[in-house]
Amino acid sequence: MAYVINDSCIACGACLPECPVNCISEGDIYEIDQDQCIDCGSCAAVCPVGAPNPED
Ligand code: SF4
Ligand code: SF4
Repeated sequence: MAYVINDSCIACGACLPECPVNCISEGDIYEIDQDQCIDCGSCAAVCPVGAPNPED
């Protein structure tokens, strides 16, 4: 499983330094590398809009 960033992302950048495996990329909407994410939830914990969520 991995986390996915949804359309509510406002590209604030808060999640980027929190990821222990550096698998988040900048963009209009930030993106998580599904192959590298270890499902730790750190990005979701700091996101102001709740954009990162566990993939179903
Ligand atoms: S859940 Fe953890 S490993 Fe996955 S993108 Fe978020 S901070 Fe990185
Ligand atoms: S913390 Fe949330 S809103 Fe900010 S860049 Fe990351 S996913 Fe997007």
